[in-house]
Parts: sequence; structure tokens; C-alpha cells
Amino acid sequence: MIVNMDELPATQSLTCKLKLLLTQEQAEAVRHTALAYRNALNHTSAVAFANGKMSQGMKLQTLVYQELRKRFGLPSQMACNAPRQVAAAYKTLWERAKSNAAHKANGWTKRRYKGLDKAPRFTALTVTLNHRRDWSLGKEQTVSIGTLTGRIRCRYEGWNRHLVWLAQPLYHGITLGAAKLWQDPVSKVWYLLVSIEKSLDPRAMDSITTVKGVDLNRRNIAVESNTRGKCRFYPGGHWRHLAERVASTRSALQAKGTRGAKAVLRKLALRERRLNADTAHCVSKAIAEPHAMVGLEWLKDIRNRTERRHSKKASVRRRKANRKVSSWSFAEVQAKTAYKTRLSGGVPIWVDADYTSQTCPICGHIGQENRPDHGLLFVCAQCGHTLHADLVAARNIGMRTLLIRQDWVRTGRLSAAPEASGDEAKAARLSRYAELRWSLDASSVL
Ligand SMILES: [Zn+2]
Repeated sequence: MIVNMDELPATQSLTCKLKLLLTQEQAEAVRHTALAYRNALNHTSAVAFANGKMSQGMKLQTLVYQELRKRFGLPSQMACNAPRQVAAAYKTLWERAKSNAAHKANGWTKRRYKGLDKAPRFTALTVTLNHRRDWSLGKEQTVSIGTLTGRIRCRYEGWNRHLVWLAQPLYHGITLGAAKLWQDPVSKVWYLLVSIEKSLDPRAMDSITTVKGVDLNRRNIAVESNTRGKCRFYPGGHWRHLAERVASTRSALQAKGTRGAKAVLRKLALRERRLNADTAHCVSKAIAEPHAMVGLEWLKDIRNRTERRHSKKASVRRRKANRKVSSWSFAEVQAKTAYKTRLSGGVPIWVDADYTSQTCPICGHIGQENRPDHGLLFVCAQCGHTLHADLVAARNIGMRTLLIRQDWVRTGRLSAAPEASGDEAKAARLSRYAELRWSLDASSVL
């Protein structure tokens, strides 16, 4: 089988979080460097702001480079990284400002975006380090890091799989990239966050034995169904309970609006992020398996789905429900599922999300009437087929994934995402989806 490798990534990028075991003097040197770097970032941010809120890294670098070297004592690499980082931050702010302008034009919001009103301040203690120049791996689980007062070498701890990879990067197909020094604001422990690229085994693509669809939604974090009829629910009741409690505490604090409340809110935001990351980690780890082609809904469609919360027509109840939607990170669960699938030797792909929860898998009838009262049950208005609505969606995604799998076998081309194709190609795909019928004998699904 010929695989069109343009469509499939040959590598997977990920981050290894290494806990640094520093002596007191080493920790002092790292802290000194991080403070200087943070001051440099804030100076650069002010310069960028004064120059039309500049978001071009190279231009910004020419403005600040000499001063970063002399006044802040940064080595040359860091004096290049700081303006690059600041420019990237401004770029994000500009993008947010643009999308806010669009939302205002559509009447979704009345609020004006304030992110560009003053120069953003960098408060976290982080330093971006280039591989080989500013940081490198040493023997026996050690790492060498450049500081303003010279290089330090220390041991590190981390996740077992990462330790194995880093002990022999070449053997495991690992390419090391930039790293970030980061201090945990609560525990004050220093970490090195190393970006790596792991090359994927191209033979994995030839050995697919399972095809499954994964539906992400609000009631259950995820529901998966393979084309042989096996299904699995990830209900996440425990996480949902915690997330809802965090959300209600947050709105109470926001109403209060005092300085103390704001401090608690910041802590709460961190907790919420950890909770989401933990959820995404557990669910995606369970879904990923070797020799599996895992179909996910194309993310853009999911975003459109949650954008309903901006609508003025939305009822109070709807808005309340949507608030909970936005606190779930679909994107995070998806991204983690995709990368864990790749790393375990499977192939993640994306399919159109249109009508996945409204289409009858037995007779193909499409319509909102298949979801009486928008409830948990799917009841086909044509053939009467009745099933849990989330399972219907997972099965439809699974069948679309199988269709892509069969196209791949037939043509040798795999389209991993419906991204670039136009409206016509999409209409053609949707009409092919309408022909799909659920059957436990996979070969009879055309
Ligand atoms: Zn039906």
C-alpha cells in the first residue's frame, strides 16, 4: 500500500517535563537568570507597545538587542529569544482583537477587547533556551543549562517513558528542540520543559486492525464505538462535579470583585486548568491504542457548535448549559487523543461533524426530529431505531472513519482531515455519508 505521507505527519511534537534537582547555589543562579529574562521581556514589551504594538520579531529584535545585552546582561541567544517571544505574544493579542471586532460586528458581544490597551506584562518566571547553545543533555540523566553566571549541570527526574527516550534520543527517534525553564508558582520547584519531535513508525499505517469513532460531548466526556460494535463511555461524573463546583465558586467570586476575590480566582483558574488537563490525559490515554484508526470530529465544527453561546436568541437555560460547555476543553481532549494515538502506533483522523448526532445509523434518516426533546435518547422518526444519542454519534463517526479507511486502501491516499477541501468536496462527502448503514459485518458497509 502506498501511503501519501504529505497528509500524515511523520513526527509528533510533545513536551517532556523534567524536574530539576538543583543545589541552593544553582537554584539562585537560575532564579537570577529568570528574573533578568523577565525584566528583559517586560522592557521589550514596552518598546513593542511604543512602536505601534509591534508583532514582527525581527524588527523588534533590532530595536532592543543591544540594550538586552548590555543593560540586562543577556547572552546573545536569549537576547534574540526575548523579542521573538514578545512579538508572538503581541501577535496573539492582535488575533484576539480581530476576532473580538468580528464578534462585535455580528452582535455577539458588546464588550470591547482591552488586551491591547497597555503593554502586556510578563509575570511568570520562565526562560526560553535554545538546544545546544543554552541547554543540552549530559550523561547519566543530567542536563546542562546556561545561566548569566555560567553553566550549571544537574540531575533531573521525569516521567519514565521520557527518561528512557532522553537516555538514548537517537535510538528512539527523538529530536531535541528548545526548552523552557519554568518555576512552579506554588511549589517553587524549577522544571525544564523540553520540546521534542518523535519520529513515527511508518509501518504502523499498514497494520490497522481496528477502526473507531469518538464523540466528545457535554454529558459524557467521550463515547467511543468501534466498527465491530464494541463501545465505551467515559462519563466523567467525578470531573464534571468538580468542574461545576469550580464554575459556581468562580461566578460567586466574580460577583464579589474584591482584590482578595481576584487572588482566589487566579488560583481557581490554575486548578481548573489542571483539572481539564488531568481529564484529557486519562480519557485520551484510554482511547489511544496501537493498530487503531481513531476518527474524531473536525474541530472547527465543534468550535462552531460552542459558539452558539454568543447568540442573543439563546435562552437563559441554554446559556447556563453553554457556560459548562465552554469549561470543558474539547480541543485538549482531541489533541491529546490524537497524539497519544500516534505515539502508540495508531492513526488519528478527522471527519466532518455535520449531522453525526441526527443521522440514523440503521436507515440513514437525517433530522432533528430523531432527537425528541433534545434528550438522551435517539429515536429514529422513520424506522424507530432507538439508542443512546451519544452512541449514535460515535457510531456515525466510526462509519465515516471506516469510509476514509476504505478510500485509503483503494486509492493509497489518506486524507487525515477535511480541512483544505472546498464546499463542493464537502457536499460530495456528505452525500456519501448519507449512504452509510450500520452493520456489524464491516465489509458490508460501503
Ligand atoms: Zn432509522
